[in-house]
Amino acid sequence: MQYGVEISIIFILGLIIGSFSNVCIYRIPKNESIVFPASHCPNCRATIKAIDNIPILSYFLLKGKCRKCGEKISIRYPIVEFLTGAIYLLVFLIYGRSYQTLIYALLSSSLIIISFIDLDDQIIPDEISLPGIVIGLALSFIVPYISYLNSLLGIIIGGGIIFLIALAGLAIFKKEAMGGGDVKLSAMIGAFIGWKYIMISLFIGFFIGAIAGILLILLKIRNRDDLVPFGPFIVLGSFITLLWGENILSWYLGL
Ligand SMILES: [Zn+2]
Repeated sequence: MQYGVEISIIFILGLIIGSFSNVCIYRIPKNESIVFPASHCPNCRATIKAIDNIPILSYFLLKGKCRKCGEKISIRYPIVEFLTGAIYLLVFLIYGRSYQTLIYALLSSSLIIISFIDLDDQIIPDEISLPGIVIGLALSFIVPYISYLNSLLGIIIGGGIIFLIALAGLAIFKKEAMGGGDVKLSAMIGAFIGWKYIMISLFIGFFIGAIAGILLILLKIRNRDDLVPFGPFIVLGSFITLLWGENILSWYLGL
């Protein structure tokens, strides 16, 4: 297959899975089935026709409004679709036709769903993170690029670092800065990428999170007492590590 065709297919596949991810983001916190019923407008309950359900395109054709009742459709929908397509594309460009591409795509989608649920509802659903830990560890016995020991250490170190920080935060600030959801999320990512990369991910996540936190306070969008969900920053750190971890690691070791 021509390379151009191949990467186009990967991108479109990402858009379609991104569209399904939107359903998961909306329904998982409400404990609704992610399969039935078909997608409908949350306002007028009208079923969304296939023609109005084309990733990204439909949002702009409909000018961000439900065809039936005119209710505003969240910009989150095309953002999640585009993000998924873009990450699938980048993962494929780096890892080519490999197990890693397939598994990192699966991981990326889970992480995108988790991040947007965390942003909306301040929870990280156990329905994704707990099976994720088990699946990540189980895959390490099958795939060649990560050993089960590395995966296991990834779970322990990934979960452990956040657990210790949560304890310290509780002792110092007397409030919960990070919760059990973040511990399980970090353990899950560690299961997939191993102990070195989860440490890099968390470091980058903290760094970006700290800058974002300061900016939000300076811009008076949040005040010092507001909690900013940390899950999306862990995810951001692991996306950067997933894509460029090897370069970051060799740069660091070469210092
Ligand atoms: Zn409607």
